[in-house]
Amino acid sequence: MLPMEPRDRQRWRRELEALRDQTVAKPAEKISPNRDDGSTRTDDDAQPLNEMNQVIASRRNRLRQGSLAQINAALAKLGDDPEMYGLCEECEEPIGEKRLSLMPYAEYCVSCQRRHDEQRGAARRSLTDFRS
Ligand SMILES: [Zn+2]
Repeated sequence: MLPMEPRDRQRWRRELEALRDQTVAKPAEKISPNRDDGSTRTDDDAQPLNEMNQVIASRRNRLRQGSLAQINAALAKLGDDPEMYGLCEECEEPIGEKRLSLMPYAEYCVSCQRRHDEQRGAARRSLTDFRS
């Protein structure tokens, strides 16, 4: 894999900043059911738009979950230690472009992430298995 170019970092920075802005700027949006204001008139045009807004709102709410700290950490890394951005914090191998485009704040490559997840799962299991 090619080393990351300065303009690649620029691109990830912009992605991260956009993500952060989406995460920070908007108050948590309630996903409201289609408004019922008591009138019997239905607006045929309003319905698809309303559904689209609900999809967008739920996607924003999902993005908000737990990722702001990771986004800020990734932006800090791009600022302080740009050579390390895009490298796995564990094995220092490049995190794949595909993975970064899904989560530009990723800290670990796929295999290290998987190992971490397994360790967490194993730790939970061993806690409950301890007395059996
Ligand atoms: Zn790794």
